[in-house]
Amino acid sequence: MYDEQKYEDYVQEVKQKGLFRQAKVYEYSQGVEYIFENKTLINFSSNSYLGMHLDKRVIEASSRATQNLGVSSTASRLVCGTMPLHDELEKAVAQWKGAGESIVFNSGFQANVGLIQALADKNTMIFADKLAHASIIDGIRLSGAKFQRFQHNDMSSLEKLLKRYQDVEHKIIISETVFSMDGDAAPIANLVSLSKKYEAFLYLDDAHGAGVYGENGCGSTGRWAKDVDLLLGTFSKAFGSFGAYACVSRGLKDYLLNTCRSYIFSTALPPGVIAANLKSVELMASEEYEAKRESLLKRCKHLRESLKQKNYQIVDGTGPIIAILIGSEEGALNKSKELLEKGFLIPAIRPPTVPKGSSRLRLTLSSLHTDKQIEDLLAQF
Ligand code: PMP
Repeated sequence: MYDEQKYEDYVQEVKQKGLFRQAKVYEYSQGVEYIFENKTLINFSSNSYLGMHLDKRVIEASSRATQNLGVSSTASRLVCGTMPLHDELEKAVAQWKGAGESIVFNSGFQANVGLIQALADKNTMIFADKLAHASIIDGIRLSGAKFQRFQHNDMSSLEKLLKRYQDVEHKIIISETVFSMDGDAAPIANLVSLSKKYEAFLYLDDAHGAGVYGENGCGSTGRWAKDVDLLLGTFSKAFGSFGAYACVSRGLKDYLLNTCRSYIFSTALPPGVIAANLKSVELMASEEYEAKRESLLKRCKHLRESLKQKNYQIVDGTGPIIAILIGSEEGALNKSKELLEKGFLIPAIRPPTVPKGSSRLRLTLSSLHTDKQIEDLLAQF
């Protein structure tokens, strides 16, 4: 039975708790400037850390592919949606990462959900970091695997669990490399050694590390090491586009192509998106983008240190996600509103996205910000 009242009651309850969320409409103006309710805002919340979504060469490559091939790939990858561009992109990613093979997915969310479901079943024990992204959690739930969460970035908590479940034959450790809400980094070397010691499959999500760290921007793990059994990255953050990839071995690729439901049963990314990603992989390795990365990380350091000097509590990290802990939902919301009035777009992140009592402002930096915009922002704290 359709029960409108049920939905209305839910919305009312969420509103009363001050947790109601809306997709507000921000009109793009230029660079990092957006218009919201006739007011110009400087956006400090985008994931396009290198401003690649506005790179003329990427836009041009995307437009050309759209002109030549149309706006759709017209079918899923295994039917007839794999064009030469898709194949080229998978080869380019594998080469850039130094990986055996790569598989392109329609989004990071679809990749995590499909991959984990394909890799695990009820006989699998998964160990995932407490702060793992929603798409990882959903993938685990869909897989039907048994599931334990270790304390955030706490290797002794992980090892305790690995010991407890030592006898389970199929074990998977899952972590992000750079955490999406906190911007802190996982201890990758320790994850690798624990996965080896306890013979667990290691699955890392480098959505926020790819393009920001490593040789040629190839991410938190650097050139792909066989130590990481599956390394996921997205085109939706530093690449400023859309889609995702997983670096795997040849054998695993073939297995996944035959089992991963979000890959098999979804229309392939359109040529315009694939061509943009292909161009951005090429540019990511250029000296120009190497310089952008270096300068971005310097400014992240400066912003973090300046906020700390002003006695703000910042989650440790080095990259462009800077989490400023406020605590209460109301406090975070008020600060975000105050900043909005001054012309800065920095969202408050509240439960259920983060645990209760750890509401924060999630600020992200981009190469497109000017020094003046950063100093003007700092003056608000
Ligand atoms: N993994 C992580 C760690 C993420 O932060 C996100 C996006 N916020 C995703 C996966 C999903 O990526 P996409 O936006 O490409 O679906």
